[in-house]
Amino acid sequence: MKAKWHIGRVTDIEHISKTKLSFSIKLKEEQQFEFEAGQFVTMDLPLGEKRRQRWRSYSIANIPNVENKLSFSIGYLENGLASAYFFEQMSIGDEIKFKGPEGTFVLPANLNRPIIMIATGTGVVPFISMLRKIKQDKIPFESIHLIYGSRLVEDILYHSELEEWKEEFGNFQFDIVLSRATNWNGTKGYVHDTYLNSDIHDEEQVLYLLCGWTSMIDEAMLNLFPKVNDPTKQIKYELYG
Ligand SMILES: Cc1cc2nc3c(=O)[nH]c(=O)nc-3n(C[C@H](O)[C@H](O)[C@H](O)COP(=O)(O)OP(=O)(O)OC[C@H]3O[C@@H](n4cnc5c(N)ncnc54)[C@H](O)[C@@H]3O)c2cc1C
Repeated sequence: MKAKWHIGRVTDIEHISKTKLSFSIKLKEEQQFEFEAGQFVTMDLPLGEKRRQRWRSYSIANIPNVENKLSFSIGYLENGLASAYFFEQMSIGDEIKFKGPEGTFVLPANLNRPIIMIATGTGVVPFISMLRKIKQDKIPFESIHLIYGSRLVEDILYHSELEEWKEEFGNFQFDIVLSRATNWNGTKGYVHDTYLNSDIHDEEQVLYLLCGWTSMIDEAMLNLFPKVNDPTKQIKYELYG
């Protein structure tokens, strides 16, 4: 089926740190844009002449809403073309063309088992969408543990929302693991030690959801494969590149 293209107008941009920003677009069309929590869209950004070179995918951070807004968080990559656009050029009112929604990395139907979400950097975005969906629809879940790695304190995305979640849901916990922070009393290092040392009651049932770049996913897969009963059913991931 031919992909349908949509146009959204940038409504707000929040520079969170030197390497992290969040922004929203509002769709031009009236019809509510439907998608599942965890999905992404592919944007056609102003990055050059060749169409394929301009395409980049981004996870949606929010859930479908009557305002028809989509929100995103972007991590800056050195020498990245899209990174340069988002951090140096994008302005309120810009039009962004995109297709989607795409992807099968969505909120699992069965939340009746322990879920461990492992993310690095903007890999936390699809999990935020999933958590927002659970909260909005009051979906019961057994337990969710988010392990979220980043570099610096100022790079942490959605921190206060995660704190609120923890307050509200006794069966939700999160760990932030920072690899380069000196001003941080929490866990330092990489996500891997945290999930490897987690106390998981039901290793046969646990579902691991991973999202981020190849280096993190590859290492996590190597670590988790021998730990679970059925890797194809118990480990799902979204690879950013
Ligand atoms: C399904 C999906 C969802 C995604 N969601 C998000 C999201 O929510 N937020 C987000 O910020 N990004 C997300 N991405 C990544 C995004 O699509 C772009 O790849 C990213 O923004 C970099 O684009 P760029 O044009 O800035 O970099 P490019 O111009 O494509 O590359 C810049 C430089 O980085 C190098 N590079 C490529 N891969 C890596 C890597 N893994 N680590 C270090 N350097 C590398 C390249 O060699 C190049 O030199 C997602 C990707 C996928 C596939």
